[in-house]
Amino acid sequence: MKPTYLEIAVPVPLRRSFHYLPPTNADINELQPGIRVEVPFGPKKVIGVLIKTTDTTHLSSTKIKPAFRLIDQKPVFHPTIFRLCCWAAQYYCHPVGEVLSTALPVLLRKGEPINKPVNRLIAKVDHANQPGLGRSPKQLALLEHLLAVNSTVASANNINADSLHQSVSEGLSKSMLSQLKVSAAVIKALVDKGYADWLPFVNTYTPFNPTNIMRQPTLTLNDEQSAALRTSDKPGCHLIFGITGSGKTEIYLQAIESVLRQGNQALVLVPEIGLTPQTVKRFQDRFQVNVFALHSGLSDKDRLLAWQQANQGSAAIIIGTRSAIFTPLLNPGLIVIDEEHDSSFKQQEGFRYSARDIAVLRGQWENIPVILGSATPALESYHNANNEKYTLSRLQQRANQASTANYRLIDIQHEKLDEGFSKPLIHLITQHLQAQNQVLIFLNRRGFSPVVMCRACGWIKNCGQCDARMTYHLTLNSLICHHCGLQSGRPPKCEQCASKQLIPLGVGTQRLEQSLLRLFPGQRVIRIDRDSTRRKGAMEKFTEEINRGEPGILVGTQLLAKGHHFANVTLVAVIDIDSGFYSADYKAIERMGQILLQVGGRAGRESKPGTVAIQTLFPNQPVLKILIDQGYEAFSRQLLNERQAYDLPPFAYQAIIRAEANELARAMTFLTHIKQNFSTKMTPLLLGPVPSNMEKRANKYRAQLLFSSNNRRQLQDALHRCIEFVETANISRGVKWAVDVDPIDLH
Ligand code: ADP
Ligand code: ZN
Ligand code: ZN
Repeated sequence: MKPTYLEIAVPVPLRRSFHYLPPTNADINELQPGIRVEVPFGPKKVIGVLIKTTDTTHLSSTKIKPAFRLIDQKPVFHPTIFRLCCWAAQYYCHPVGEVLSTALPVLLRKGEPINKPVNRLIAKVDHANQPGLGRSPKQLALLEHLLAVNSTVASANNINADSLHQSVSEGLSKSMLSQLKVSAAVIKALVDKGYADWLPFVNTYTPFNPTNIMRQPTLTLNDEQSAALRTSDKPGCHLIFGITGSGKTEIYLQAIESVLRQGNQALVLVPEIGLTPQTVKRFQDRFQVNVFALHSGLSDKDRLLAWQQANQGSAAIIIGTRSAIFTPLLNPGLIVIDEEHDSSFKQQEGFRYSARDIAVLRGQWENIPVILGSATPALESYHNANNEKYTLSRLQQRANQASTANYRLIDIQHEKLDEGFSKPLIHLITQHLQAQNQVLIFLNRRGFSPVVMCRACGWIKNCGQCDARMTYHLTLNSLICHHCGLQSGRPPKCEQCASKQLIPLGVGTQRLEQSLLRLFPGQRVIRIDRDSTRRKGAMEKFTEEINRGEPGILVGTQLLAKGHHFANVTLVAVIDIDSGFYSADYKAIERMGQILLQVGGRAGRESKPGTVAIQTLFPNQPVLKILIDQGYEAFSRQLLNERQAYDLPPFAYQAIIRAEANELARAMTFLTHIKQNFSTKMTPLLLGPVPSNMEKRANKYRAQLLFSSNNRRQLQDALHRCIEFVETANISRGVKWAVDVDPIDLH
């Protein structure tokens, strides 16, 4: 049968596609999946993507509308990216139209042509020695400039869009002219004299030249590094488990080098690109090819340009954060995920995908190696390496001879704390400052479920019905079990030793900077967190100041733990670790271990030895001891044993349906409906619904229903049946709901 209808994915929060008639004058047989189509949607015009053409529709002929127009002749989607998006929409239970839209640069989402011609000012003569320019030096200068750019060669150091224009074409665009501060009058004069003119220009891109790629020679690898490099050069997924400073980045660089020599491209994902300009610089220093950094600071235009360079093979290396995983590569050669354990690779709202997991799949489909690197691999990745799904390479020495940090536990069980600081810690900080060194105070603020703990004996209230800790809810001042929903008031005293000293752990520590100024008068205190670094260039300024090396105190959150290199920091102090080890979220302990080692990597990077001081009520906590005495691998093994015993990921698969409403009851009822509809079937296990840890956010009440199964297939089936039920049964009125597959945050 002849196809008659277009099946279009529209960027709306509905888990289905929509049928349209082709626009009049379009030949439906010519249409390829992945082209953009402008269609009517309610009263609006939206940009959708053609999934396929079909000969059947459930719509009646009077209801089906024609599409307005085709935006593309050829698909904007690279076939692999299109396939990844369709897979991800299914796997993460997210509307395919929104997924496809996420994968495109903003300007393409809005329907801009992929190669929009821009007017450029072009020289119309071949030398600057023209009559009438003698007394107008500005016009002469402009003409000379126009002539010069025609022969400009690509310069790898310049990665902004305007210099790219220069490298790929001739003439100057309006924005380039305004950057050069050329006035409109000067341009007009030159045009009027017939020496220059505006011409529409379409950029063309050519693949980079693989014969001349090096700017700096490579380092000679040590044995561990060579082995890791050899292991990682085949298609498949490779975990490089190497302590901070063991030379992982050097391995990425050399792996990329051999990829580039074959004329192929490399995609590198990092957790926080805006905060690690050093990493980008290291790539640019090594290679004289186009290196693109994709980050949130880029304009939409620059992003589109980088995307095109990647798509057409002229960008050799793309370094980006999570969403860069959807960057198309003409000649894919390698994907690197640095700090693969980092939670920023999982999107936490909307389309909740894991860029790392998508990367692994992409690598399979493109038949290229995927390198995951970390000093503290995620338990899932380590588990996959143990199961030989991934290769595993260990790097256990620091590459530059720096020594590893000493860990020191400070028992605060019997200490009086001054604004959270114990006497021994204050003493230690003072010593390091007096020795003219820098001290980093690390504050863990993110993603832990608070519990209530007895200060005297360490008792924590457990649920009577489950083997789980009760989560403390500040707004309700009560404890709730996140597994069964049991709720109880905050106990007046410890049920074990009757002490009245019950303290909530893991909440509020914002006043730290003020406390430090008071505790260490006269010391410079630099606070680095999301707020203080929001301004453009702020992080660079801090980094510069810190690298001047004057003694002082740095206060930071997770941001500081990531990839920074501060030569003069000799002491890292962690003041609030118990909230991590005693969180109600079973993943918190893994994150705490990762953080401890990551911040530890900040201490003593160069010639000076480093110390990590950890304040804790429980210096004999078994997993903490394993981490410190035996290292992260032993710690991982221990946690994996526990996860296996309790049927938790990676031994089980999880998903959460989250609901949000004006009243908690409404969200809970909605989730209860879902659960009841499935209560007869035992697999997967449905836990809850319970109010979310932060049950009130932005005046909305939130609750969640957890799915858990040993079988991924069954979990997926159940989720899809639930969604179908919700979408057909009309139970979601007044409720905003979302699905989170493989959640990393169980709140
Ligand atoms: P990681 O990424 O594991 O933290 P890096 O690759 O940044 O480690 O290496 C840490 C330091 O050691 C860097 O200064 C790097 O230049 C240096 N380095 C890495 N490999 C070697 C090597 N084979 N020989 C000499 N120095 C090296
Ligand atoms: Zn319970
Ligand atoms: Zn007690």
